[in-house]
Amino acid sequence: MPANDKPEPVIAYCVKCRDKRAMVDPKEVEMKGKGGVTRRAMTGTCEKCGTKMFRIMGKK
Ligand SMILES: [Zn+2]
Repeated sequence: MPANDKPEPVIAYCVKCRDKRAMVDPKEVEMKGKGGVTRRAMTGTCEKCGTKMFRIMGKK
């Protein structure tokens, strides 16, 4: 597997564009749920309009 310089874009739904957009500066965050379940999510901003975006990645 070749190593890429650029990380893969994180695609999320932008409510303002009403379309799927790539996140700018995506960050992984963890959310504590019920029963001690940790869910991973990505936050970033829309590449087009700068609206904050949020994508649940699910638990690992
Ligand atoms: Zn947007």
